[in-house]
Amino acid sequence: MLNYRIKTVLLPPLVRLAYGGFLIILLLIFCGCKAGPEPINYGHDECDFCRMQITDNRYGSEIITDKGKVFKFDEVGCMIEYAMVKNLIGDANQKFLVTDFATPETFTDATIAFFVQNDNFRSPMGSNVMAFDSEVSRQKFVAESGGSLLNWVDVIEIVKQRSK
Ligand SMILES: [Zn+2]
Repeated sequence: MLNYRIKTVLLPPLVRLAYGGFLIILLLIFCGCKAGPEPINYGHDECDFCRMQITDNRYGSEIITDKGKVFKFDEVGCMIEYAMVKNLIGDANQKFLVTDFATPETFTDATIAFFVQNDNFRSPMGSNVMAFDSEVSRQKFVAESGGSLLNWVDVIEIVKQRSK
């Protein structure tokens, strides 16, 4: 601390100014990171909608609000139900993340993800919807296991129908 003080006193004003700017930029980057996704602690965290423990790492979903708050869900169905209750659907300031079914524990943007519904694959709360981060990996899954192809808007519609 003492060393730091001596050093900054000795620095020319312009360098000190640049140094200060650098610190501010670092701070901004750090704050930006805070608004990113938070890993789900499987077997420990609970779903913010149904309050059940989140255990299946192929289905975890997350909302990051415009204020940087993170909400975690055991599957996309619970995320959408929560978003409907809180009026977040269609709000571009909220980030919706789903797990890429082919690479568990890896988030992908829900609004542009490639979904499949297949009742042979039971999702934690029964929407039986899986998400993929690319059309190629979705097609690979469907070729092997079948299912109907959906986009984000279709999935919202399915959840709406289910919750009626
Ligand atoms: Zn849930």
